[in-house]
Amino acid sequence: MNNKKTKPLFIVMSAPSGCGKSTLIDMLLQEYHDIVYSISCTTREPRGDEEDGLDYHFLTTERFEELLAENAFIEHAKVHGNYYGTLRAPIEEVLGEGNSMILDIDVQGAAKVREYVRSLPNTDPLKIGYVDIFILPPSIDELRARLVGRGTDSPATIERRMANAEGEISRAGEYMYKVTNDELDVAYKRLCDLIDALSGRM
Ligand code: 5GP
Repeated sequence: MNNKKTKPLFIVMSAPSGCGKSTLIDMLLQEYHDIVYSISCTTREPRGDEEDGLDYHFLTTERFEELLAENAFIEHAKVHGNYYGTLRAPIEEVLGEGNSMILDIDVQGAAKVREYVRSLPNTDPLKIGYVDIFILPPSIDELRARLVGRGTDSPATIERRMANAEGEISRAGEYMYKVTNDELDVAYKRLCDLIDALSGRM
């Protein structure tokens, strides 16, 4: 573990489901105490044991629209009738404290964040620290095998996830870095090496 003060990064990470992105992010957060996970805002109702401020910031539609009008989001989307969005202020705050922020977001959301970052002046800490990473499965066949193997999805859901995955993978070239998750520990090491190099930890 190495938590010495380093260049604050604004890390955007995407992957098709079944590529181990959540596990990799959890591992990073366990080890790198200076990386903070970005909690999205949503207007959907909490599900199961989801907690406000932990899984999401659960907002009313009125409050979300107020924040939208104030340009508080760096990106937002409407999914199944509910708003989802990423606030700018917490990212600025975290980077301002010298820490890094990680965003777990799909390809479309990442494209909006990238566009937003591009529009910023070169001196903006979000632009200076920006990096986007795409997690790839070893192959399409292996991804299918993993989705079948985890046994949580119906065949129809697996087909939908596979179609989504192929669409997302076709856009992996938009990302600055790609990490293939063939073996979890190896992929994690690659990710750590990348983050260490980018943040000047080595
Ligand atoms: P769920 O309601 O199942 O948690 O998420 C539904 C969808 O919203 C998922 O595809 C998830 O990736 C997306 N989502 C979650 N947070 C955000 C966000 O901050 N911005 C955008 N654009 N999409 C999000």
